[in-house]
Amino acid sequence: MPGIDFDRLRRDITMEEVLQLLGFEPSQRTGDQWHGACPLHGSTSGRARHFSVNVAKRRYCCHKCPSQGW
Ligand SMILES: [Zn+2]
Repeated sequence: MPGIDFDRLRRDITMEEVLQLLGFEPSQRTGDQWHGACPLHGSTSGRARHFSVNVAKRRYCCHKCPSQGW
């Protein structure tokens, strides 16, 4: 996306804040590794665990849609 300074964004906002903005509710937390329903492809299944994110490493991936990154 043009116009967005992702480096600055990463410094100013935590992964937890991003997830909160997306409405992500982890169904399981194991330390820094959180699992839950994917907020990126609009999954509404509250107990789903196909979305995995490491809030310390700021890496995430979804096992149902191609979303992944850091
Ligand atoms: Zn997904």
